[in-house]
Amino acid sequence: MEIYEGKAKKIIPLDDGKAVMEFKDDTTAFDGRKKAQFRGKGWLNAQISARLFKLLEERGIKTHFIGVAGEDRLIVERLRMYPIEVVVRNVVAGSLKKRLPLEEGTELSEPIVELYYKDDSLGDPMINHYHARVLGISEEEIREMELIALKVNEILRKYFAERGIILVDFKLEFGKNERDEIILADEISPDTCRFWDAKTGKSLDKDVFRFDRGDLISAYEELYKRLTGEA
Ligand code: 5GP
Repeated sequence: MEIYEGKAKKIIPLDDGKAVMEFKDDTTAFDGRKKAQFRGKGWLNAQISARLFKLLEERGIKTHFIGVAGEDRLIVERLRMYPIEVVVRNVVAGSLKKRLPLEEGTELSEPIVELYYKDDSLGDPMINHYHARVLGISEEEIREMELIALKVNEILRKYFAERGIILVDFKLEFGKNERDEIILADEISPDTCRFWDAKTGKSLDKDVFRFDRGDLISAYEELYKRLTGEA
C-alpha cells in the first residue's frame, strides 16, 4: 500500500483498515512557497490534535482518531478523502479580509462556512456547492460536512474560550469510511486553526510563521499548556 506524503504529514497505511499519521517538523505557508523546520512541532501538533479529536468524539462527532502511537504519530481510520477543505470563521482574519469590507478582528454576526478545492497548483481556490457537485460530491454530502463543521465550531469555540483563547477560524477535512459514513479527518492543530490570546490578541498558531511574529514553538507550547494544563 502506498505511503502518502504531504507537506506537514505522512500517512502510512496499515493492513487492517487503519493508518499511521506522522506529523512532521516541516512547516510551509503560501502554497508551499515559504518553508522551514521547527524541532518539536510534529510532537506538539500530534498531541494537540489527539486532545481535540478525543474531545470531539466525547461530544458525539465521528472522527478518524483511534489512538496515539508515539510522540508524533496517531493511529487513524483509513478513509477515502474528499478533495476539499471546509473553513469555519468566527472573527475576521486572513483571506476573509479580501472578501468582506470588515476590519481584522471584527467578530462575525454568525459563523461563516467556506469550501476550498485542495490543489496547490490552483492555489486552493474557494468553491461553492455547484463546483463541489461538478467535482462529484453530492449536495447531501456537502451539507453534512458543513453541519459537522458548524457543530465542531460550537464545541471548540466554547472550549477554547474557557481557556482564554479566541478560536478565530479553522480548516477541516473529511473522508468516507467503508460504511460510507462521513468522518472528520486530517488534523486540528495550530497549523490549521487561528487562535488568539483573548487578553493580548497574540497569535498562538501558524500566523507566527506566516508573518514572522516571533518563535513558533513557544506559541504552540503556550497553546498546548492552556489546553492540557501541562508544561
Ligand atoms: P485563510 O483562508 O484565512 O488563509 O485560512 C482560514 C483558516 O483555515 C486558517 O485558520 C488557516 O490556518 C486554515 N487553512 C486554510 N487553508 C489551509 C491550508 O491549505 N493548510 C492549512 N494548514 N491550513 C489552512
